[in-house]
Amino acid sequence: MIILILNSGSSSVKYQLWNTKKGGVQAKGLVSRIGIDKPLLEHSAGEKKYEHSPSDKIDHNQAVKLALDALVHPDYGVMKRIDEIEAIGHRVVHGGEAFAESAIIDSAVVDAIRKCIPLAPLHNPPNLIGIEACTAILPKTPQVAVFDTAFHQTMPEVAYTYALPYEYYEKYKVRRYGFHGTSHYYVAYRAAEILGKPIEKLKIITAHLGNGASITAVSEGKSVDTSMGLTPLEGLVMGTRCGDIDPAIVMFIMELESKSAKDLDNLMNKKSGLLGISGTTNDLRDVIKASETGNKRAKLALDVYTYRIRKYVGAYAAAMGGLDAVVFTAGVGENSSIIRKMILDKLEFMGIKIDDSKNKRAVGKEMDISTSDASVRTLVIPTNEELVIAMETERLVK
Ligand code: ADP
Repeated sequence: MIILILNSGSSSVKYQLWNTKKGGVQAKGLVSRIGIDKPLLEHSAGEKKYEHSPSDKIDHNQAVKLALDALVHPDYGVMKRIDEIEAIGHRVVHGGEAFAESAIIDSAVVDAIRKCIPLAPLHNPPNLIGIEACTAILPKTPQVAVFDTAFHQTMPEVAYTYALPYEYYEKYKVRRYGFHGTSHYYVAYRAAEILGKPIEKLKIITAHLGNGASITAVSEGKSVDTSMGLTPLEGLVMGTRCGDIDPAIVMFIMELESKSAKDLDNLMNKKSGLLGISGTTNDLRDVIKASETGNKRAKLALDVYTYRIRKYVGAYAAAMGGLDAVVFTAGVGENSSIIRKMILDKLEFMGIKIDDSKNKRAVGKEMDISTSDASVRTLVIPTNEELVIAMETERLVK
């Protein structure tokens, strides 16, 4: 099946064209700077690369149109006509409690995604615009929504309930939702395949460590707890996000510095995390370099970052009552042997032991990095959210 996969964000649209019979991605690209000056399309199909910068500002409809034009371009395209696309799969960030699975998009699904806007004000509106743009250009092509939150809908009440007055859950659905679900799902199932065991018999911790980062406890193939909460701010230390803090700090700083709720939102989402502690950068590679040259705050940032993840590994093993495997994925998890080692240091008592030379060799590829006598396997698995979106789209449309 020929499937267009779309990830429509506030100022950019990422796309991939999949042919599930021909083994995957045929072409991919990014339209950036939507709604501002100097929009840019960067497209590639195998070795063929194409860039185009329209002279005027563009909206999301025009961005989708640019992507489709590139896909049928006589030199850089991979199709003759856009109606060769048989289905469209959209990454949608928040599905609230309405979606425990992907869904074929109809007006009721669009309404339900719209109802989740208060829970993801930055993400769901551009996701919806992407859907509407496709509906306008390819009205007869079926579309599927694949939600970042869906995999975590199996979490039990005990894991998703916050100890606030219960009416806030009843009135506003304030609870833990979790994100990166497509990635956690993919690497957990792939881990079971690599280990050659049925996922129903495994307890797995999946650590998605990118710019945003979250960690999930997957027991018997189901997400039973995850570190991100109502929003993607809770949990691990991230590039610019603080993750877990004492909630009273918010009121404390607001009063001391006469700041607004919006100021604090900005401070915790954009100025904290690795950037906040190191004072220089949110990019982990740069934090590691600075730490190696003796920068104390960069070293502290790394220590806090890895210590938090290690605490979650212990907590989730306790939550599941055991552990068979730890999986690392995303930019940091797939590439940084230093960070993996710092996290797992001291966890030998749990049966987690990694082989240093395997760990160093595991850069952007699937590998079991445990020692042969480790009772808990440690795996590095590059994530593939697009593959899941393509499979889900094909499954639902068929
Ligand atoms: P996003 O959440 O934006 O998709 P990625 O999954 O691409 O992010 O991860 C980006 C992060 O991965 C950055 O902080 C980057 O520094 C980090 N990263 C990438 N390669 C390495 C590496 N070799 N060592 C340490 N960190 C790395």
